[in-house]
Amino acid sequence: MEHIVIIGNGIAGITAARHIRKHSDKKITVISAESEYFFSRTALMYVYMGHMKFKHLFPYENWFWKKNRIDLVNAYVSQVDIANKELILQGFPKIDFDKLVIATGSRPNTFAWPGQDLQGVQGLYSKQDLELLEANAPNNTVCRRAVIVGGGLIGIEMAEMLRSRDIPVTFLVREANFWDVVLPKAESQMLNEHIREHHIDLRLGTNLIEIISDENGRANAVITDKGETISCDLVGLTAGVSPNVDFLIDSGIELGKGVKVNPYLETNIADIYAIGDCAEQHEAIDHRKTVESVWYTGRMMGETLAQTLCGHRMAYKPGNWFNSAKFLDIEYQTYGWVFPEASRKDYEQHFHWRHPKEKICITIAFHKTTGQFLGINTFGIRMRHAVIDRWLREERKTAHIMEHLKDANFDPEFYSQYEKAIVSRYNSEFGTKIIPKKKSWKRIFNNT
Ligand SMILES: Cc1cc2nc3c(=O)[nH]c(=O)nc-3n(C[C@H](O)[C@H](O)[C@H](O)COP(=O)(O)OP(=O)(O)OC[C@H]3O[C@@H](n4cnc5c(N)ncnc54)[C@H](O)[C@@H]3O)c2cc1C
Repeated sequence: MEHIVIIGNGIAGITAARHIRKHSDKKITVISAESEYFFSRTALMYVYMGHMKFKHLFPYENWFWKKNRIDLVNAYVSQVDIANKELILQGFPKIDFDKLVIATGSRPNTFAWPGQDLQGVQGLYSKQDLELLEANAPNNTVCRRAVIVGGGLIGIEMAEMLRSRDIPVTFLVREANFWDVVLPKAESQMLNEHIREHHIDLRLGTNLIEIISDENGRANAVITDKGETISCDLVGLTAGVSPNVDFLIDSGIELGKGVKVNPYLETNIADIYAIGDCAEQHEAIDHRKTVESVWYTGRMMGETLAQTLCGHRMAYKPGNWFNSAKFLDIEYQTYGWVFPEASRKDYEQHFHWRHPKEKICITIAFHKTTGQFLGINTFGIRMRHAVIDRWLREERKTAHIMEHLKDANFDPEFYSQYEKAIVSRYNSEFGTKIIPKKKSWKRIFNNT
């Protein structure tokens, strides 16, 4: 029987395993050094915040794996021997494979900062990082201040986690405004305000220079490029992630930032594939990054590859870009492409509306000449994925989006609705007379 071995039990590896089992009777082994069972990485923060226990992060009961004949191995793969089709593991016998799936995820970036290996300095990625955070920052007596370095999605999660235990947080962000490498300035500036309102000491345009040690080898301060020394007991390094592929360096498998793959998720070596955060497309799909460190794309790659491995060779076609996240109490969604000032396309124009009092806003990107709808960002308003996705596929004009905006609203009943104010602002900015149509369930479900 063909033996498929998957390195990595994250969303990508586990989705591949589940779907291979759905479509075939092959022998499946999943190896992971981090944890015996698959868990929901995106919910790690809620364990520290006391909303959940770690055991609540397991989407499947422990019996699921045996019942579905998915063998789990909790060990680290140190080497892939492509000639003999076998894996060398630490403290575990070799494992042979007929087909190998590399789904080893990411690791936090570090930039050779002096002091980055001191005790009390850590990233936030793994189960082990969560345990370390619990040890490093159990309360505000042991951790009197934390400094977080790197203003992205994981940095703000870490800040929220620490603030939930009343630990003072200084947040060093290299950019002029929070996450302005991704968001238009008006949105970034709204988030600056929101972060500060949560009593997080946000330092914009500030870089880490060095982490200082006490006499026991523990971090006790950082020095910034503004010449300031900030005392702290914890340094959180959250300056992005990179594919976790160092163990493959001499394997013969082609690497760039990650494991290089073609649209079929195949590497340069026959019978070896890569999916999830560790995979790097040779050519970017649409405006996507060649490495996508996002939960749902890992799931999509896992599903796609399972088809190929079960005899229906299939390319990875993720469709329109979308994503969602949370910045403290603000929910964020994005669909299509809304570029920040620095990388804005010359044909791209924006319409922005912000609520006069609350932290609620939307930005719509459209083609300057044709008016074609290109993308939307919303903060504090939930959108209906299927509707927006359809508008993007149908290349609708922005006027159509404005007229039917109510169809896209997915906020629960009785939430305030803002379409009237948004459309009125659009009319005054662009000299139009659009009247927003009532929400129509017929339109929403009939795809008209
Ligand atoms: C705190 C946090 C919050 C996040 N929140 C969101 C979110 O809200 N939305 C979103 O879309 N994304 C989010 N992400 C990103 C998302 O979690 C990742 O994109 C996704 O988990 C990647 O899945 P994966 O299967 O590719 O890899 P991973 O989940 O990283 O799994 C890879 C596994 O392989 C193991 N492994 C690696 N190398 C070896 C080896 N040599 N031998 C054995 N095992 C190995 C690793 O230890 C790991 O267990 C978040 C990430 C973090 C860290």
